[in-house]
Amino acid sequence: MDQDGMAHYVLSSTWDEKMESRVSLGGASRPCTRRSELESCEGRAHSRIHLGNYKALWFERTEEEKVTGENVYKRGYWEAKDQEHTMEKGEGPHKRWKVTCERSLQICQRKKNLICFNKKMEVVSLPAVSRVAVCGGTHGNELSGVYLVRELQKKREEADNVSVMTVMSNPRAVQQCRRYTETDLNRCFTTATLSAPVTDKTPYEIVRSLELNSLLGPKGTDRAMDLICDLHNTTANMGLCFISDSDCDWICLHIYRHLQREMPSVPVRYISYDTPISEAFSLESLSKHGFAMEIGPQPHGVVRADIFNAMKEGVRLMLDWIQKFNSGVQFDGGEVEVYTMGKGIDYPRDPETHLITATIHPQLQDHDFRLLHPGDPVFLTFSGKTETYKGPEPLYPFFVNECAYYEKGIALYLGRKKRVVVPSIQLERDCGSG
Ligand SMILES: [Zn+2]
Repeated sequence: MDQDGMAHYVLSSTWDEKMESRVSLGGASRPCTRRSELESCEGRAHSRIHLGNYKALWFERTEEEKVTGENVYKRGYWEAKDQEHTMEKGEGPHKRWKVTCERSLQICQRKKNLICFNKKMEVVSLPAVSRVAVCGGTHGNELSGVYLVRELQKKREEADNVSVMTVMSNPRAVQQCRRYTETDLNRCFTTATLSAPVTDKTPYEIVRSLELNSLLGPKGTDRAMDLICDLHNTTANMGLCFISDSDCDWICLHIYRHLQREMPSVPVRYISYDTPISEAFSLESLSKHGFAMEIGPQPHGVVRADIFNAMKEGVRLMLDWIQKFNSGVQFDGGEVEVYTMGKGIDYPRDPETHLITATIHPQLQDHDFRLLHPGDPVFLTFSGKTETYKGPEPLYPFFVNECAYYEKGIALYLGRKKRVVVPSIQLERDCGSG
């Protein structure tokens, strides 16, 4: 760890095992319930999941289940899934495939990331993900990431095929246990902000964004990190969400699929902003591939065991996938669900004082990602009146009643869900001959 709260270490299998044994403390190991990609590809040992006494919010164990060790459905989640349907219509697999391939080329060109398709366009070859940064404390009061980065910084072990840097992104905000000190750091990484002149009056977070750009970028260059995983918490009941500027970054989407398979007790979803790289404002936009790992519900300024352990397991599985990819394992393609970041909806407000006049309706609270239909309750005013959703089409709510968004005038986001065809991928071997 240097003076700026940064540490560097190289991932090894021993670190992996220690992570696993720590997570397992106090509980029996639970067998893997789904086949991993690796099993289907090369028949190697599958990734193990040992969540131990981790207690999922969405599932609970009955007395019988405590004997069998199985987590069994608790409430709501699968009913919500049943109600969901794709918002895309009239797009056959062929069209989706074509769109996906074209967009893949676009993103790879814009990130100067060499990519080559084989002649049958079945397997995409990509460069190794050799340099990874795991960042926490970008928002100083989102404590799972703060404490997980500190935990990871204790480890300096050797070997294998990926180097991992851990970064405490906003040490001053972490010290004060605040989201930020002067301005939201995770909005400071646009090309315009990173290239603006610095004066004595420049906010701390903008100065810090320039330091992080030097450390992890520079943004849009070959020297940038291969992948940044930026750890966040939300007060909304969103489970584990990948948040990315792209819906066609195959590395991120394959890691997402890996976590979905290997963490069956936690809802794992993917939200895409689909923002041009120059306008992308978040920390992970500094790297060639990147995403925020957003987990909730957890109050800001608080760390909860279930949320912390889900984050720790998510990071372990991400690094596990990267190691396999770098060692040459081919990962099969498939179709995934991606939510698009839609419009933010503000709370009802008094037209004169601008103070909010309602809270999220109890029928919507904690029901992120449950399809909201026209006429469904959204707000309950302080005088007791229900306000309903008046949009023309059903949409998916998320970041419902997120604490940090009160200041931004956002009570929730409404987005669509679509399906993205992800190709099979493997480590590139010789792009020149393709
Ligand atoms: Zn955050």
